[in-house]
Amino acid sequence: MKPVFYRAMETTGLRLASFPGFAGISSPGIVILAYHDIGVLPEPVPRRYIYNVSEQNFREQMMILRKMDIPVIPLREAVLRLHGELPLDRRYAVLTFDDGFHLLMKSAVPVLQELEFPATFFVATGFLDKEIFPWLADDFLPSGEVIPQWQPFTKEDIKSIAGNPQFEIGSHSHLHVQFEEGKFDKYLQDVKLSIDVLQAGFGINVESFAYPYSFPGQRKRAGSEFGHLENGFRHFGLQAICTTQMGLNRAAHPAHRLKRMQVKSYDSPALFRARLAGNLGIPEFIQRLSHKLF
Ligand SMILES: [Zn+2]
Repeated sequence: MKPVFYRAMETTGLRLASFPGFAGISSPGIVILAYHDIGVLPEPVPRRYIYNVSEQNFREQMMILRKMDIPVIPLREAVLRLHGELPLDRRYAVLTFDDGFHLLMKSAVPVLQELEFPATFFVATGFLDKEIFPWLADDFLPSGEVIPQWQPFTKEDIKSIAGNPQFEIGSHSHLHVQFEEGKFDKYLQDVKLSIDVLQAGFGINVESFAYPYSFPGQRKRAGSEFGHLENGFRHFGLQAICTTQMGLNRAAHPAHRLKRMQVKSYDSPALFRARLAGNLGIPEFIQRLSHKLF
């Protein structure tokens, strides 16, 4: 049982933070939610892995969107609204899933189909049909085990998603690359390879990209190199680029530096509502503290 102090903070602090008036959910803007894997991880769950969301929580979060009457729109439409080609008159949500977990086919995809919610899947194409995402195994499973929950999409999964007009497949690079200073050309080559794999192998016209790991534009020293990177993406025909910067996208926000809200394992309904508001900091701090994640 959690100590009284934590429980008190969670109930009062989070309720206040997610109160619609305080949270400002009614103001115009687009919240792009970033998910990873949805489903049950084996016990004990690797403690530092905070990106897994249970099926029950995911369904509950989707129902919150529906109950709060926040339209879920495709990423493509979000770009049009940010650019003023369609009105940006209220709060909208976009759903994105990073990496490309096979597990999603049985967990998230049926819920999205049932609710007719569009979504974008950012796929690291170098791992299709593989047994496990190697960076997850290396970072979280030191004993060398393989857990089926971290199996990447199969090629059949990609065909199935690509065949559904409700869904979009975007690039998450080929090998889930980390940007290294001085090596933007290597980074661009890897992204281009993923676009080519999706185009040549599956006939997918890739319009969007999400940076693996952190967004290199946040680094002070990225400077002019980062400009080269963004020019390269434009050259590849990418229309929407998602970063790991948190926040809400308001009118005229550039489509090549979209902010997102990462949904985490410990999100309570109140914290989820605070994410929809683009209102973090205090609510997330309280939730992490109450789960003793620091
Ligand atoms: Zn990733």
